Amino acid sequence: MAQKGILIVVSGPSGSGKGTVLSKAFELDDSLYFSVSATTRPPREGETDGVNYHFVSREIFEQYIEKGAVVEHTYYSENYYGTLVSETAGKCEEGRDVILEIEVDGAMQIKKKFPDSVLVMMVPPDYKTLESRLRLRGTNTEDDIRRRLDRALEELKFYDKYDYLIVNRDGEIDSAAKKLISIISSEHSRVSREPEFPEQFLNQ
Ligand code: 5GP
Repeated sequence: MAQKGILIVVSGPSGSGKGTVLSKAFELDDSLYFSVSATTRPPREGETDGVNYHFVSREIFEQYIEKGAVVEHTYYSENYYGTLVSETAGKCEEGRDVILEIEVDGAMQIKKKFPDSVLVMMVPPDYKTLESRLRLRGTNTEDDIRRRLDRALEELKFYDKYDYLIVNRDGEIDSAAKKLISIISSEHSRVSREPEFPEQFLNQ
């Protein structure tokens, strides 16, 4: 029985380490598909168009919204971010599991549109760790760190709207990545994802 792929949303505040954990998960399981979002923010050093994001102008992004080319979108830190239809629906039909690395507002929109999507929140183990991870980045001003901390606390308040929580402890990237992979694997065995299975036995 061929199964459709699953939409897996991974959210986590700045300092949760979700990017590192996701890179590890893709290394461990190359069947996972990363949905490349569109954004109006400029690329950071080391980022590549079409790989990290589709970097587009505000005008193009607004056209995407108008044409219904984005499944969800949000306005975050003065820029648009959105999941492209072309990155999701077709891939799931092909049987690929699609990972969306998006913030909480987008996650809520995805759950509403696709109730069988799986929402995973990546969290730091405690406040002290969150704060020291943000400070360790070193490139931020005190004001910036405060803002990120406040934003992180706001995002963490949504934890109970998620299906799974992964605590990302220092030095345990592998374990967090494996947890994500095992969540996806368990989700494939959900009874609700095999609706045709009982039919073949009940109709004998
Ligand atoms: P950054 O600018 O640091 O790459 O991302 C800022 C925030 O936007 C992160 O929380 C990231 O998960 C989120 N984000 C990235 N792509 C999307 C998207 O397509 N939709 C939504 N709603 N959020 C996104």
